[in-house]
Amino acid sequence: MFQALYELLFPPTCPVCQQAKPAFHGFLCLGCLADLSFSLRPKGIQPVEKAFWGRVPVHSAYSWLRFNPQNRTRDLLHAIKYDQDERLGQAMGRRFGRDLLSVIHDPPDLILPVPLHAKKMKRRGFNQAEAIAKGMSEVLKIPINSTLLSRTEHQASLTKLSRIDRWERIRSAYQCQSELLTDVHYMVVDDVITTGATIEACVNALLEAGAKKVSVASLAYAERQF
Ligand SMILES: [Zn+2]
Repeated sequence: MFQALYELLFPPTCPVCQQAKPAFHGFLCLGCLADLSFSLRPKGIQPVEKAFWGRVPVHSAYSWLRFNPQNRTRDLLHAIKYDQDERLGQAMGRRFGRDLLSVIHDPPDLILPVPLHAKKMKRRGFNQAEAIAKGMSEVLKIPINSTLLSRTEHQASLTKLSRIDRWERIRSAYQCQSELLTDVHYMVVDDVITTGATIEACVNALLEAGAKKVSVASLAYAERQF
């Protein structure tokens, strides 16, 4: 009853557009939901797979939404990252997971979120990639491991470096914390793939540690013309 009274006094707002919306915590209003553009294909090659061609051997790759600076996906990603808690990220991860269920042909055994540097984690309170991964894990019924991959370098200094130096830095920033089970099919999960450098570095860390099969998934992907 208190919840109902609270919501009457302070109607919940959509985390993306900030408009009041029907009570339904952590979820988007219908307007924002209708404005999202999807990247996931029911069959055939997924657009995000192309980001890794000629770069790193990825078993399969999936992205749920199409990111571009004009659509609300950008605002959604921002809200997931800077919301006060990880509920929005988890809710979106569950939706992505539900859509993935009908598309995925060779599900992974273990989900690994792209890690945040400890300092950033402390400042923000949670890792948005982990929030999304938790939602996916729940729906796909696949376990998640948030400590196998770790991030060593702090990203703040990267902006001053040249493109190649920056790439080298990112490449060496991700490591496996412990011995891998090489026969496990891993899936690295992030919030958004733009250049693909971050997730590629994670995949490389796993392959170098002996993993034989690595897939990737992100909530959104900045599709480009190839
Ligand atoms: Zn909205």
